[in-house]
Amino acid sequence: MSFMVNIANGMLIYTLVLISILALLYILERFRQNNREWELSRSQLMVCKKCGRVFLIKRQERSRQCPECGNIASRFRIPRTGV
Ligand SMILES: [Zn+2]
Repeated sequence: MSFMVNIANGMLIYTLVLISILALLYILERFRQNNREWELSRSQLMVCKKCGRVFLIKRQERSRQCPECGNIASRFRIPRTGV
């Protein structure tokens, strides 16, 4: 009888460990996504066409001046490599 209980307990512990590992992975993945979204929603990557400097501005910020040369910068786009 006690042997059966031990198997049942073992199965329960095994299942709990498995579920907690999956939950942990899920939480970590959500954190990673949140970080990415936060970065994209709070700031914009800008590139200066004059000197080529790439910098971040906050979305609320109206001025898009380059901190290096004062030129108006445009949004930075990741160059397509065509791979
Ligand atoms: Zn510049």
